[in-house]
Parts: sequence; structure tokens; C-alpha cells
Amino acid sequence: MSLLSELSERIPGRAHGPGASEYDSGRTVFAGVGEPEAVVRPHTAEEVAAAVGLAAAAGLPIAVRSGGHGLLPVDGGLVVDLAEFTAIEVDAAARVSVGGGARWGDVAAALAPHGLGISSGDTRDVGVGGLALGGGIGWLVRMQGLAIDALREVELVTAAGEVLTVNETSHPEFFWALRGGGGNFGVVTRFVFQAVPADGLVAAHVGFDRSDVPALLRAWRDVMRASPDELNSSLMLVPPFGPEMPGGPQLGAALQGSEARLRELLAPLLELPSVTEAKIGPSTYGELLEDAPPGRPPFRFVGGNGFVPELSDAALDAVAAAYDREVPTMVLLRALGGAFSRVAPDATAIAFRDAEALLIVNAVVAADAPPELITAVEAGSDAALAFTSGVYGNFSAEYGDGVTAAMYPPATLERLRRIKAQVDPGNVFRRNHNIAPTS
Ligand SMILES: Cc1cc2nc3c(=O)[nH]c(=O)nc-3n(C[C@H](O)[C@H](O)[C@H](O)COP(=O)(O)OP(=O)(O)OC[C@H]3O[C@@H](n4cnc5c(N)ncnc54)[C@H](O)[C@@H]3O)c2cc1C
Repeated sequence: MSLLSELSERIPGRAHGPGASEYDSGRTVFAGVGEPEAVVRPHTAEEVAAAVGLAAAAGLPIAVRSGGHGLLPVDGGLVVDLAEFTAIEVDAAARVSVGGGARWGDVAAALAPHGLGISSGDTRDVGVGGLALGGGIGWLVRMQGLAIDALREVELVTAAGEVLTVNETSHPEFFWALRGGGGNFGVVTRFVFQAVPADGLVAAHVGFDRSDVPALLRAWRDVMRASPDELNSSLMLVPPFGPEMPGGPQLGAALQGSEARLRELLAPLLELPSVTEAKIGPSTYGELLEDAPPGRPPFRFVGGNGFVPELSDAALDAVAAAYDREVPTMVLLRALGGAFSRVAPDATAIAFRDAEALLIVNAVVAADAPPELITAVEAGSDAALAFTSGVYGNFSAEYGDGVTAAMYPPATLERLRRIKAQVDPGNVFRRNHNIAPTS
């Protein structure tokens, strides 16, 4: 009997195959469209457990879909689509229960009337599941740390079909692994986060020309070093795409505080001669989140990301050089430090807590660019990435053992692999940045 027939018998009405609209939405993620054997759209944790049990017994791999903004479309096996798990509830202590298939924009909208926020990402369409299990870097990162730092509990469906409540006291090792270990340990049907006050925000958008990028980078670093945790910012260096789209550096900043205070903190940047525009005004956490582009652009990105322990002058010069290339190159620097760095490196699976910033460098080349061009372009991106440690897996479209090894220091990876061996020894949850169980 096929997986689809077995699922249809066991949980009627929840399994979908080719031709069904639920199959098409379940197999589509940001990076493309896969060809799974079946998509199941359960309504309860028990239905998730039944579907996982069937696929695991058949030795089939399982992919989990939350917001569908992952970077790995999958072929074969089962997709567990959490589209029905979108409930969001806030209690009087600002603890927020969020379904494993909700999106961060919906979370922000539900929290807005309470004046609350949860550190998440920059984009409203991204799913709670993928972003939170991988870490979660966004607008409140210096105030509250990563999304995982606000996580207090999850409901986990394991490969063995158990439904577990996992927190600091109940299965604490699993709780540690789930905070940064991605979708390796089972299906999270419910997250519980501690929200924080996120009202009284002011935001700035400042554009610059390309006349003195090294000076801009130094000024940004110095501003962020001198600023309190309430200031969050990222600097995006956008390349020119022809005469109509000249690109240029763009600063996005948000402060929990007054407009006057934001202007004061950003003054060294606002006074630079390269400023072309500046918009500063009140905002909300929901308004800070952007819409995602409709899908991955049809280019090839050559580069990667990493955590920058120190934004030295040499590191910043390498960043400026990576941007100032003939090949169009997107660079993003996201300021870290603050609450992010006050979490001990071994408290969660995201260990690079001493980082001053996250750096992403991506040269944009044609999808069919020849290998010699790729090699030359890689060298330019690598020169900047040489100043980083580790990799933030959620931003990596590359998969494989080498990427997983770069995401975690050796001791962290070893601990993750031991936990994986306890909870998923058959490695059914392997359609991700896979942590292979220790044998
Ligand atoms: C446009 C865009 C903007 C982004 N912005 C940010 C950002 O600002 N900050 C940031 O940190 N990241 C960001 N990301 C990266 C994002 O965090 C990852 O791509 C993440 O995996 C997407 O989560 P998802 O739930 O939407 O994706 P999905 O494709 O649904 O899931 C991705 C993977 O996560 C796992 N997974 C998801 N949900 C569950 C669950 N409930 N239980 C178990 N496993 C699960 C599965 O392994 C799955 O393969 C962005 C990505 C995109 C495409």
C-alpha cells in the first residue's frame, strides 16, 4: 500500500497527493518546489504523531513545513504541513503560545494590542517553526536576544510518535537541542515564548551614496558600540543593477525610545556627507517587518554568512572591498551584541555569542555562470567571510555535512548528535541542516 493510501486510511481527509491544492502548497517553499510522495495536513498533535509513525515505520524521510520560507525543497518522503497549527494566545504574564505553523507577522499582529513583541526576524511571512528552531535573528536581537532566547516550552512530536512537553525541567536536553538545532528532533506543534514590551518604537531609514563606504562602515560600528541594547540596526550594501537602479548603502534602525534620542544616537551617521535621504519617525514592531519577495530570484548567489567576533578596521575594509567589485554583491551587516551576547555559548545550540555582527556576503551571478567565474567570485566573497566564525544555518542555502559542521563548534555538534541519537536514531528528520545521530 502506498504512503498516501495508508495515511488516508489512518487519518481520513488529511493526506494529499499530486493534483490536490494542499499537495501543491505543502511542497512549495521559498527556494522552490519539491516532489514528495505525500503531504499531510494534520489538525492535532496526535494526527501528527500518527503520520510521523507511518512514515518512520516505512523508513521514509520526513520534512516539516511551517511558514514555507525554508531554502530546501524536498523530493520523496512525507511533508508534514503545519498549516492548521496557527493559533496564537497571550496570557496575563506575557507568555505567548504559538502554533508551529504560524507566521511572525501574525504573531506581531496578535501582540500589538498588548504592546508586546517577541524577538523574531525581519520578515512577516517567515514561519515561526523554521526561524525559531534555527535561532531567529531580527529587530529585537540586541534587546531580547534570539527568538530561541525567549522560548520557554514546546510541544514536540518525536520520531517514535510520542507527544512530549519539553522545557527546562521536562526533557531539558531536548529543550537545549531544539534551541538552534533546527528541525532535527521532531515536529514542534506548539511553541511558548516570553514576550517583552515592544511599544514606543521609533525607526530610521537612511540612504547613502557609495562615495565613502569604508568611512560609513566605521561610523556604523562606532555608533553601535556606543549605543544601548534598545538600538537595533542593520546596514545593507545594495549593488547597482544598471543605471535605473544605482543601489547604495541603506541603514535600517529601530530604537525603543524617543525620536530625539534616535537622532542623537545616529548623529555620526546622519552627519556623513554621503547621506542621500533620511526618514525617521514612530513605528510599531509589526510595521518593522517586511513582506518577503515572492520567491528566490533566478540568480545564483556566491558567498555565505558568518558571525563576526570583532568589526576590526581590517574586517570592515574587506567588507568594503567585497562590495566594491565589478560583480554585483549584496552585503548585510546586522549588529549583534547586547542581550544576544549575554547568553552563555553553551546555554543553547547557537554558540557564537561573542559576535559583534552577522555578515552576509552574496555576489549575484547568472544561474548558468561558468565554473571559472564562480571560483573567482568566491575568492572575493571569502576574503570578507575570512573575518567570521561559524555560519548561521537559517541564512544558508547550502546543505551538507560541511555546512552543519560550520554551524556549530565541535563540542556543540557532538552534544547535538548524541541527543539526536536518543530522539531520532533512524534520522527520519533529515531533510534539513542534518545532524547525524552518533552511532
Ligand atoms: C524572505 C526571507 C527572509 C528571512 N528573514 C530572516 C530573518 O530576518 N531572520 C532570520 O533569522 N531568518 C530569516 N530567514 C531565514 C528563515 O529563518 C529560514 O529560512 C527558516 O527556515 C524559515 O522558516 P519557515 O518556517 O518559514 O520555513 P519552512 O520551509 O516551513 O521550514 C524550514 C525548515 O524548518 C524546519 N521546521 C519548520 N517548522 C518546524 C516545526 N514546527 N517543527 C519542526 N521542524 C520545523 C524544517 O526542518 C523545515 O525544513 C528568512 C528567509 C527568507 C526566505
